[in-house]
Amino acid sequence: MKSRFRAVLITKDGSTQSVNDVELGLEDLMEGDVTVAVAHSTVNYKDGLAISGRSPVVRKFPMIPGIDLAGTVETSTHAGFKPGDKVLVNGFGLSETHYGGYSEMARVKGEWLVPLPKAFTTADAMAIGTAGYTAMLSVMALEDAGVTPAKGPVVVTGASGGVGSVAVALLAKLGFHVIASTGRTEEEAYLKSLGAKEIIPRSELGGDPRPLSKERWAGGVDSVGSKTLANVIAATQYGGAVAACGLAQGLDCPVSVAPFILRGVSLLGIESVYMPMARRLKAWERLVRDLDVKKLEAIMRTIKLADVRDAAEDILAGKVRGRLIVEIGS
Ligand code: NDP
Repeated sequence: MKSRFRAVLITKDGSTQSVNDVELGLEDLMEGDVTVAVAHSTVNYKDGLAISGRSPVVRKFPMIPGIDLAGTVETSTHAGFKPGDKVLVNGFGLSETHYGGYSEMARVKGEWLVPLPKAFTTADAMAIGTAGYTAMLSVMALEDAGVTPAKGPVVVTGASGGVGSVAVALLAKLGFHVIASTGRTEEEAYLKSLGAKEIIPRSELGGDPRPLSKERWAGGVDSVGSKTLANVIAATQYGGAVAACGLAQGLDCPVSVAPFILRGVSLLGIESVYMPMARRLKAWERLVRDLDVKKLEAIMRTIKLADVRDAAEDILAGKVRGRLIVEIGS
């Protein structure tokens, strides 16, 4: 086991936040019953917010960012895990109150760990990451609300992003007619390769919403929030449902109650960070079954630990297509 290792560290001096590459020792890690040699992490939108300091994601300084990690257990006093086990973590306060994945070594609570599904490598798991696992949670919520391919098309907003790309691939594989909404219409071929049947420009859903619009879809996965979410809800057909998981356009949602009380539309809130373990395990099982691993190759790009700061800026600027994985160890 490495006693000294590389990590990215966020520090704060007054109101100034700095992000540096550092070398740390095992004694610097936080409390936990499992030590993991991290092989891969990833860059999600929330990682962009944490590294840039644009939103108060980090609640304790100094902090190692990275809300996800995947790697191999080195030491464990937790009954469920032993040295050599391949594991992953999504959320549970990583990069908020507990040191996260941008580090060659991590010490975490065993109760946060998901055994790496046999079908996935650590790189695959991080190509999915919190974004992809959230897309799966969103799809499961739509299913629970009774949205099926027979009921009509589904819309995915922020479709070229991480949550959006995986949601498009999952819904297409499940037989849905997927309408992908994107600000990057040049990504039409990419989105169609993931299974989208129709591409609509982001501007169609980004303006001031009407209380009710023409019914266009049976459901949707929205990673954008704000007016886009309101427009998606307003165009959802009778009895449909929309899974809301993101805020790339904004935290507000200027929606009328008309879709809820006149069409029985349901708004489904999706939270991934503290999702109970049983549902998490179910989501990872479903990802094994319903995500075509070959599609991940089209979705993902690999970067080095030293590149995460630039990647954080890019993801906040909406310039990242699909998923970025961070290669950390072997
Ligand atoms: P990405 O940046 O990869 O994707 C977001 C996409 O939204 C962009 O690619 C872009 O897609 C679109 N977008 C960006 N800016 C705007 C804008 N101003 N107006 C409209 N659309 C915009 O991020 P992730 O996929 O990692 O995350 C997406 C959202 O989901 C984030 O808000 C994130 O915080 C949230 N999230 C929430 C989780 C939860 O637990 N609820 C877990 C994971 C993520 P395009 O170019 O195709 O239009």
